[in-house]
Amino acid sequence: MQTKFARRITTASRSFTRTILDLTAQNKIISFAGGLPDAALFPKERIAFHAKALLESDDARLFQYSNASGVDALKNEIAKQYASANPKEIMLTNGSQQGLDLVCKTFLDEKDCIVVEDPSYLAALGLFHMYNATIKAVPLHANGVDITALEKLFHEAKPKFFYTIPIFQNPTGYSYSLENRHEVVRLAKQYHVILLEDSPYEALRYDGKPSISFADLLPELTIALGTFSKTLAPDFRIGWMKAPSEVISALTLSKESTDLQNSKFFQHVCARMMQNGEIAEHVKTLIAHYRPKRNAMVNALKHSFKESIEFVIPEGGMFIWVDFKACDDSMKLFDKAIEKGVAFVPGSVFFADKRISSYGRLNYTNSSLEQIEEGVKALHTAYVELQSA
Ligand code: PMP
Repeated sequence: MQTKFARRITTASRSFTRTILDLTAQNKIISFAGGLPDAALFPKERIAFHAKALLESDDARLFQYSNASGVDALKNEIAKQYASANPKEIMLTNGSQQGLDLVCKTFLDEKDCIVVEDPSYLAALGLFHMYNATIKAVPLHANGVDITALEKLFHEAKPKFFYTIPIFQNPTGYSYSLENRHEVVRLAKQYHVILLEDSPYEALRYDGKPSISFADLLPELTIALGTFSKTLAPDFRIGWMKAPSEVISALTLSKESTDLQNSKFFQHVCARMMQNGEIAEHVKTLIAHYRPKRNAMVNALKHSFKESIEFVIPEGGMFIWVDFKACDDSMKLFDKAIEKGVAFVPGSVFFADKRISSYGRLNYTNSSLEQIEEGVKALHTAYVELQSA
């Protein structure tokens, strides 16, 4: 039967991060590889409390089919997070990954051009390939995208959208400066390019001031994606999109043909937790746990590697993007690191052209302080051994 697979499947490769997840699940390996929240922090008791209250509510509509755009109570709460949004500009998705898929389904014809950051989120790159998009990549720096390169691409390639993760980016942890955002907005307006803004990590800020989103700076040309995966639990599979209402109508049409609707039960749990401020409180707990982990990894890296690597300290999110300067190909370092009992994601997989890279992505949220210390030491041993080999 495989001979009949569509090209989008025969040309797709298995995500390298999934391979690593499997590897680290089987072996006693300290993993800085996944992008996982700390499972010990999932607010199980509060979830159980609201789930029980809902089940006892005796509302016959709870488990019935409903509309594809989501539960009103939750849309109302999400709309409040934006400077000005009405619930008609919000729809729920099965995680922001589905949001990305629905945007592609709604906007992309074969070979349509899109622009991504270089490097970018691995699963988005894979998805864009499946839609047979022409992918152009624009260099990403610590303070935002390369504006000259972006303008050239907007002008020459006439992309449908620019896929951007402007806060605590995956994989780099970088954030756009306000100035950079304004420049991007200027170009989007001038060349009429949609900004597809993906912000799953925005709430996890450990330092600095909150920044203004593209959704608030340029609502008429932005499709914003959000998710409860990092602030509550990935298994809820609840994300959302915010866009002009006529775009939401088209995206809703796409969602109907994909899965009819999200499960309402967890949407109601989420809505209740937002209404009484519990999610905001829970985010404070997450920050209180994740900030020391970020600091521990930064300190351990500085202590072990000294000047032999480079990285920018992220103000939030889940990742540190390290330039292992003495190792041209971090894939080799990955192999050595696995031997020493620690995993990370080699940078190459995050680049649109999969070029060899000296960078690697390290996650700190899903390891204990002790594992961070031990894992960084093991990584350093691997780094040193590789150089003397
Ligand atoms: N976008 C980015 C940048 C991500 O890092 C992730 C999660 N790793 C997602 C989207 C998907 O998140 P969700 O669980 O909401 O589908």
